[in-house]
Amino acid sequence: MTQAINSTQALYRCLPAMDSLLLIPQVIRFTDQQGKPWIKSLLAQMLKDARQQIAKSRSLPSWCLNQTKIVTELERRLVLALRQSMTPVFNLTGTILHTNLGRSQMCEAAIDAVTKVMRHPVPLEFDMGQGKRGHRDSAISALIHELTGAQSCCIVNNNAAAVLLMLAATSAGKEVIVSRGELVEIGGAFRIPDIMAQAGCKLVEVGCTNRTHLKDYAAAITDNTAAIMKVHTSNYHISGFTKVTEEAELAALCQERGIALISDLGSGALTDLSRFGLSKEPMPQQMLSDGVNLVSFSGDKLLGGPQAGLVVGDSELIAKLQAHPLKRALRCDKMTLAALEATLMQYRNPESLDSLLPIFKKLSRPQPELEQLAEQLLIVCTEFLSHFNVTIKASQTQVGSGSQPDVLLDSVSLCFSQKPDSQLSLQQLDSHFKTAQIPIIGRITANQLWLDLRGSDNDEQLAQVLVQIAANIAAQCSGVSQ
Ligand SMILES: *Cc1c(COP(=O)(O)O)cnc(C)c1O
Repeated sequence: MTQAINSTQALYRCLPAMDSLLLIPQVIRFTDQQGKPWIKSLLAQMLKDARQQIAKSRSLPSWCLNQTKIVTELERRLVLALRQSMTPVFNLTGTILHTNLGRSQMCEAAIDAVTKVMRHPVPLEFDMGQGKRGHRDSAISALIHELTGAQSCCIVNNNAAAVLLMLAATSAGKEVIVSRGELVEIGGAFRIPDIMAQAGCKLVEVGCTNRTHLKDYAAAITDNTAAIMKVHTSNYHISGFTKVTEEAELAALCQERGIALISDLGSGALTDLSRFGLSKEPMPQQMLSDGVNLVSFSGDKLLGGPQAGLVVGDSELIAKLQAHPLKRALRCDKMTLAALEATLMQYRNPESLDSLLPIFKKLSRPQPELEQLAEQLLIVCTEFLSHFNVTIKASQTQVGSGSQPDVLLDSVSLCFSQKPDSQLSLQQLDSHFKTAQIPIIGRITANQLWLDLRGSDNDEQLAQVLVQIAANIAAQCSGVSQ
């Protein structure tokens, strides 16, 4: 016992003192570059970890052995700490618009526009003609009018905010009628009944989960009804014996009874998606021509732009939204507005969307091209073969973010499965993928790790990263067996 304590104390004594660490020439160079307080805190953490290791396993970490190893360990920690949390990854999950991976990627024009407004003063709320105060949504409003025929629009932080503002500004203190089949929950905390309550509206449910008729809506209208709201059931699909009341029918009813018809569209595709083999997603312009007064949708779902919520429609109602105190709290910054404007401009030429917007580029990529890519990557993957079987499998990609819940696009995946005698598990492989220089995010199902290639942005880079991961695994395994 005493001997054990003595030997532990001897180990503690082997730890270098902070002052001596700070005198190592390479460490001095780091402190010059990064500032002394931060480098000192990294060194303090190294010493703390070392003390913990001594207490736990009576051993010294190998970096304590000499100055070179100390510097290498410090450098390793520095590189990790300097890596930003939002580092680019390959999204090979099989879900193109992945909310946890930042939804839509932006077109080059949007990236360019954002860079400019970050760097320079811009007339965000400045009327260049008159030299007086302008409105931050007016440029987008003009574009939206051009593209959808909407009289006006209001831009906020996301579609959840758009629905909140739309309800608060048109219907606070009053009743809003919604079909029981459309009381949607979107991932997270967005539930229609909760948003209604937050907006100060009284939710009036009508119809049944599977069927709601025009007469159900008509019977629920009272003197205190402000609006009927339609909600796009974007993340589920009710089939079988069903009946939804279409917007055009509801518009006539609302007009007759003097109430508003508002719609939460969710995805809001501005272009027909049937050319990708996707079913027709309802489009805002269609809703407006059917007589809906206000339509809200996301900027970063099928629109392919930045996170934003757009409410488009009648100018009188939009003016109410613009004047509501919540608008000031929910408004977008110049970077979002610049990215949104640049994205919307691409829609002037629908033919070019497939090559310019990353979302459409991925959705429209021909299957044979993905098959060819898979063959090429399989050759690169030979290095993995000592531990894993790697095969090419047909798979299916989903659009994601509640867009087109039951539509899947054909795709091709690389599939990794563990060999019976391998010392590496699928989880370990996954963690090698996730800690690569450009992390690869795949999906583990049925004891296989799937990399869905429709998500690739850069095939050559993907190949390089796979080669690098294979090398890391080889190095790790040779280390283990020595
Ligand atoms: C996605 C979605 C929302 C939420 O939109 P965010 O942009 O994520 O805030 C609201 N309603 C519907 C129907 C949706 O599909």
